[in-house]
Amino acid sequence: MNRSEPVPRADFGPVSVYFGHKSGKYPDGNQVMVQGRHARAAFDTPPVANRIGPDFDSADLVILGHVHEDHMAGLHRLPQAPVHVHHDDLAAAQSWPGLARHYGYTDAVLATLKHKVETQFHYHPRPDAQGYADGDTWDLGGVTVRAVHLPGHTAGHSALLVEEAGVAFIGDIDLSSFGPYYGDASSSLADFRRSLAVLRELPARVWVTSHHKGVVTDRDDFRLKLAAFAARIDERTDRLLQMLADGPQTLEQLVRQRLMYPPEHDDSWVDCAEARAIGMHLDELAAQGRVRHDDGAWRRAG
Ligand SMILES: [Zn+2]
Repeated sequence: MNRSEPVPRADFGPVSVYFGHKSGKYPDGNQVMVQGRHARAAFDTPPVANRIGPDFDSADLVILGHVHEDHMAGLHRLPQAPVHVHHDDLAAAQSWPGLARHYGYTDAVLATLKHKVETQFHYHPRPDAQGYADGDTWDLGGVTVRAVHLPGHTAGHSALLVEEAGVAFIGDIDLSSFGPYYGDASSSLADFRRSLAVLRELPARVWVTSHHKGVVTDRDDFRLKLAAFAARIDERTDRLLQMLADGPQTLEQLVRQRLMYPPEHDDSWVDCAEARAIGMHLDELAAQGRVRHDDGAWRRAG
């Protein structure tokens, strides 16, 4: 990446989208800025925020759609700007212990991760961050932002809707081929399913994701991409049942085979995230009477 190159940008009325490396592929992301008559808001602060310059550094406030390391990477540039985040992600924005509980990984993994977020993501907790709730609005001067709580990825994950412009920042419901991520302590598979249904009906004309897809401007195209993204959940359920077809497996054995990530993916946190996500699928299947847990292993039932 050539850091001196200008950051690509697309404008939709008062909304500007600054595209991170490879359309915001993790660990980068896409930066949204919204200009009203009396205030300029930043939606999240991904790593690309550090390459934008005055257009980012002049933000009057930050509204976080959710808390993860790659969405806080520009906060250190705006120490005076108020930071708003959904109540259910608030503790994660305020301190490292809060963020550690939010991830819910083992102590050894968290120690490695802390070093990574400090060195690669300019980690800067904000004890002064303020909580918002579903339906809360910000009047930037002729431009209104409304929070739409869409939990699942994290407990506080929210879309930020710029009402006059019909632009919805949908964060990490990112329409990627990877599919939904629900591997943290604050994630919920059941909530994610409900949020995907709500998002389908959101009154927007432009959808902006944090990663990969960037911007979608056609409703039919959006719905197709959303359906493909959502379908990854049931594909994972089917694969998990397939993994149990030849006999019982412990959670550890299932984790080693991987459900969300490719088998070769070995980042320090992946075992923890896989265990969490696989556990959610197994709980869902158990409630449906399709699997059961005995003698320390999971097996198909019925
Ligand atoms: Zn995230």
